[in-house]
Amino acid sequence: MERAYYVTTPIYYISGNPHIGHAYTTIVADVLARTARTFGPTFFLTGTDEHGQKVANAAAAAGKTPQEWCDELVPRWKALFAAYHVEYDDFIRTTEPRHVEKVLRVFERLRERGDVYLGKYEGWYCVSDETFWLESKLVNGRCPTCGREVQWISEDDWFFRLSAYRDRLIEHFERNPGWVQPRSVYNEMMAILREGLDDLSISRTSFDWGVPIPEGGVIYVWLDALLNYITAIGWSEDDAFFHRYWPAQTQLVGKEIARFHTIIWPAILWALGEAAPELVFAHGWITVDGQKMSKSLDNAVDPFLLADRFGADAMRYFLLREAPFGSDFSYSEEKIAQRRNSDLANDLGNLLQRTLSMLARYRDGIVPERGAHRGGLGERFASLPIMVRERILELRFREALESIWELVTTLNKTIDERKPWELHKAARTEDLNAVLYDLCEGLRWLAMLLHPFMPERMSEMWEQLGAPGRIDEDWASALGAWGGLPPATQTALSGPLFPKIEFETVAST
Ligand SMILES: [Zn+2]
Repeated sequence: MERAYYVTTPIYYISGNPHIGHAYTTIVADVLARTARTFGPTFFLTGTDEHGQKVANAAAAAGKTPQEWCDELVPRWKALFAAYHVEYDDFIRTTEPRHVEKVLRVFERLRERGDVYLGKYEGWYCVSDETFWLESKLVNGRCPTCGREVQWISEDDWFFRLSAYRDRLIEHFERNPGWVQPRSVYNEMMAILREGLDDLSISRTSFDWGVPIPEGGVIYVWLDALLNYITAIGWSEDDAFFHRYWPAQTQLVGKEIARFHTIIWPAILWALGEAAPELVFAHGWITVDGQKMSKSLDNAVDPFLLADRFGADAMRYFLLREAPFGSDFSYSEEKIAQRRNSDLANDLGNLLQRTLSMLARYRDGIVPERGAHRGGLGERFASLPIMVRERILELRFREALESIWELVTTLNKTIDERKPWELHKAARTEDLNAVLYDLCEGLRWLAMLLHPFMPERMSEMWEQLGAPGRIDEDWASALGAWGGLPPATQTALSGPLFPKIEFETVAST
C-alpha cells in the first residue's frame, strides 16, 4: 500500500474547556493535512485524553462521574474545531473501547518482553501535569512546569525500563538531528538524556479513573495517552493498514510535553518493535502579556468569541503569519485586527474586488482571451506552488505565506502600473485583455495556494472567479503552467471577502 502522510496533534486533556492554544495546534495540523491531501493519501488525527487524576478531580468537583464529565465536554472540543474549519480524519477518545483494549495489550506485550517490572514508587507527583518528579527537579518544592504543589506518592507500581533505552535514544538523536524541532527543544532533550534516565512508573494505585490493570491499579495516563497515535490507526490488528501510516511524518506537540514525545514515546515504540516518528515538532506558546495562555492561569480568551469577532479564516491566517512556527508569540486583538485589515482586506480582498469590478465594467464579467501579450508572470511564479508546498510541509508557514504574498503584491502593482482604465480609454483591447487575464489567473493561483490556510474564504473566492475544477486539486497539475483559467469563464463579483473591522470596536470590547 502507498505510504500516507500522517499528522497528529496531541490529544487534549479535557479537565476543562478548550482555549485558543488548543485551536492553534489543531489549525496547524489542518493546514498540513489540507496541503498533503492535494497530492496524496493523508491521515489527520486529533482527539481527547480523558483519563487521569486531574479529570477525576474536575468531574468530582462538578458532581459528575468522570465519564459524564468527558461526554459533556467532548462536543465542545469538536465544536471548536468545526468553528475553525478543521477537517480531521479521526477524533479518538481514550475512553473508547477501541483504545482501552489496545492499551492493555501494549502493557501485556511490554511485560512479556521484560520491559515492564513491578517496583516501589516513592516520589513527587504533580496532578495538574500528571507528571512524576525527582526531588532534585522541584523548584522551591513545587512543580517545575506549572509551579503548583506536588504530592508525595509511595506505592507499588509497574515500571517501564526507560533507562535501558538511553543509549539508543542518544544515538537516535545524534543520527537524526532534525527529528526533534525546533533546535532549542532538541538541545533541551539531549541535555536530559545526557543527565541520565530513570525508569518510568506506568501505573497508579491511588485512584481508578484509567485503563485498569488486571492485577490492580490503572495505567499511568501518559502511557495511555501516547498510545492513541497507534491505536487509532489499527496497531496490532491490520499491519498493512497500520504501516501505511506509521511512522508518522509529523507529530505536533506543545513544548511543555516534548519530553514525553521525544524520550518516552520512542522508547515505548521501540519496545513494541515499531519505529519512532519521523518528526516531532514542539511549538511555542501563545502568550498574553508574556503569560502562557492556559485555562489554569485564567487569561484564556474564549476561542469561539475570537472566531466570531475576527472570522475563523482570519484567525487561522493570523496564527500562522504572525510569528515563525515554533517560537512563542504575544497575542493581542489589536494585532489580529491589523492583520485582517491590512493583509486580508486591503491586499487580498481589494485585489479580488478591483479585478472583478474592472472585468464587470470592461468585459461583462467574462475572462478574456489571454492574447499574444504575455506579462511574464507565469515564468516569474512558475516555481511558487512547489516552494509553498515544501515550506508548509517543513512547517515554515510564515515563509510560505510571505512567498504567496509576493504574488499578491505583484498583482496589485500590475493594476497600479498598467492602469487598466487607461488601456480601456485608449481602446488598447489586447493589452487590456492580457492584464485582466493575468489578474484573474493570479487570483486563481492565490485561492488554491491559500486554501489550506483559509478554506472557507478561498472557496468563496474560487466561486467568484468561476474557476473550474476543485480548489483542493493537486497544485502541480492545476497550477503547472500559467494560463489554466479558461477564457470565457464567467465571474461573479459579490461582497468583500474580508470586510474591514473597525478598530475602535475592537478596542472597546
Ligand atoms: Zn505541574
